[in-house]
Amino acid sequence: MPITQLSSTSYKLFADYHTHPQGHRVQRYTQTLLQPWAESARRLGLTEIAFTDHDRYHAGVDFDEIDRLRDRNPDLRIRAGIELDNDPVHSPAGQNWVEKHWDKLDFVLGSVHFLDRVDEMFDSVPDGATQFEGKNIDALYASYFRRVREIAATGLVDCLAHLDLIKIHGHRPSAEIGSLVNETLDFVCAQNLAIELSTAGWRKPVKEAYPGDAIMELAMKKGVPFTTASDAHSHAQLGDNFSILAQRMASFGIQHVCVFERHNRIQLAL
Ligand SMILES: [Zn+2]
Ligand SMILES: [Zn+2]
Repeated sequence: MPITQLSSTSYKLFADYHTHPQGHRVQRYTQTLLQPWAESARRLGLTEIAFTDHDRYHAGVDFDEIDRLRDRNPDLRIRAGIELDNDPVHSPAGQNWVEKHWDKLDFVLGSVHFLDRVDEMFDSVPDGATQFEGKNIDALYASYFRRVREIAATGLVDCLAHLDLIKIHGHRPSAEIGSLVNETLDFVCAQNLAIELSTAGWRKPVKEAYPGDAIMELAMKKGVPFTTASDAHSHAQLGDNFSILAQRMASFGIQHVCVFERHNRIQLAL
């Protein structure tokens, strides 16, 4: 379990900005698929959720169905989003789709899921761990953060997902990665992007939130805005571990989260 310093302040998180209604295959958006997410949000006391399915499943996204869901759930702010990654096979089509639908999208997450293998996400558990075998871990970290800067540079993303996903299987760099992270966060600032505070890492072999403490502190110093995120692949996972994330944020003195409407970032107090 993550160790967090309990603070006298405790927050109630209200937004989950990383969710996958389609899971890991194309499933057309329907009220049957989406309504359980609205119900989970309401049950958890969330008032705002963003759907961010992987761009390779963009064929399933239906903006009219999202509008219908909004009409049926007027107490919730439901944001249309996508998680755009560096998939060497599918992301060129994904980028085109994002450009085409930019005005209908509230929010685009940028992610790096691929290193040198074109056919396997390095973050698949457990298989992706083989991509680290016999490799120079410091070089993999450098390569990963270079790819993060590349996705940030597309101009097609509002926020970066799981910024230190490269640690997912528990591989740690031997060298200081401070300058690598510093350079990446400076680039995030220059591009005016947010980064997410994600609970997903607590479910993974690394058993640590994304990003880790040192990156979070540096991001705070630089004034990088944060979203809150579970990366839920099922409506039962929505807001996963948000009470622990709230404690973690309180212990760091984070008092704001941001939300997005048609790519406009709005900073809200907790
Ligand atoms: Zn991801
Ligand atoms: Zn995701």
